[in-house]
Amino acid sequence: MQTSAVADKNRIGLVDRLRVGPVICAEGYLFEFERRGYLQAGAFVPEVVLDHPELVAGLHREFVHAGSDVVEAFTYYAHREKLRLIGKEHLLEEMNRQALAIAKAVAKESGALFAGNICNTNVFVGDDDSKRTVRSMFEEQVGWAVEAGVDFVIGETFSWGEEALIALDVINQSGKPAVITMAIHQQAETREGWSPEEACARLEDQGADVVGLNCIRGPRTMLPLVAAIRQRVKGHVAALPVPYRTHDGEPSFQSLRDPAYHSLPGGRPFPTALDPFVCSRYEIADFAREAYDMGIRYLGVCCGAGPHHIRSMAEALGRTPPASRYTADMSKHAFLGTDSSLKAENREYVKEL
Ligand SMILES: [Zn+2]
Repeated sequence: MQTSAVADKNRIGLVDRLRVGPVICAEGYLFEFERRGYLQAGAFVPEVVLDHPELVAGLHREFVHAGSDVVEAFTYYAHREKLRLIGKEHLLEEMNRQALAIAKAVAKESGALFAGNICNTNVFVGDDDSKRTVRSMFEEQVGWAVEAGVDFVIGETFSWGEEALIALDVINQSGKPAVITMAIHQQAETREGWSPEEACARLEDQGADVVGLNCIRGPRTMLPLVAAIRQRVKGHVAALPVPYRTHDGEPSFQSLRDPAYHSLPGGRPFPTALDPFVCSRYEIADFAREAYDMGIRYLGVCCGAGPHHIRSMAEALGRTPPASRYTADMSKHAFLGTDSSLKAENREYVKEL
């Protein structure tokens, strides 16, 4: 039984791909569809999966076109607790199966890896009762993912190390490879007080194929934490920051404050007014190079990511995804360009721009 599970892992491809180079995983579907007007901030349930499946397929394709090696099924927060909250628990299975089918189709047509996804349940509090509830929530979602034929399962944005360990155990029992990423808020520790590297070491010991961090922190405040994780664990490390300019004083995107605008609902830019803090594509490229140079191979961008970020990350790692055909070439710009056929009068006028 165990031998066939190991053989299955080797056949599937994530681990093999990581052995020869980086794997890029685009995330951040909730934020992107909220921004576009197809799901609601606050509840953050991926209703777009049922309401507009063609748009979900389209965004998967845009991310693959930009360089994502993974099509992650949009089942983030498509779990029992979130659907209960909006009174739509009866749609749970349909939403999961639909999201998986959409992702599978795009993975098949593009050759990308097909990933299932589970995440923090928001009901874990550490007692036996919540542990049982959380496990059953993971079991139903992982079960649907396995039936859909995923290549591996991503368990993400856990702030409780113990909840992540339960997610990992459920994925392990399915025989699929597991990528587990923790979400680290202002304090550089899990909610039970483990350091990020301690949490990742425990997850690796329990059989996770890739361990690391995603979401919550921007490139600048995630890098030092993943450096410590890289030092501590033996296997593959993941780093998928949010593309926002977090810094030592405000290390998470929830803690960012906007000195230029004082009438924000709730008093903070998170989650609907983070626009002034978005990293440029060049900052994401810098992050990708720095993380890769320290030995981190599973890379991506989370909430706030756009295809331009993913393309920039891919190119920083030496790739030329299809979208690279349209990478900026300012030599052809009418005013700022250098092409000899451009009008000298316009190139002179550049000082007035
Ligand atoms: Zn995120």
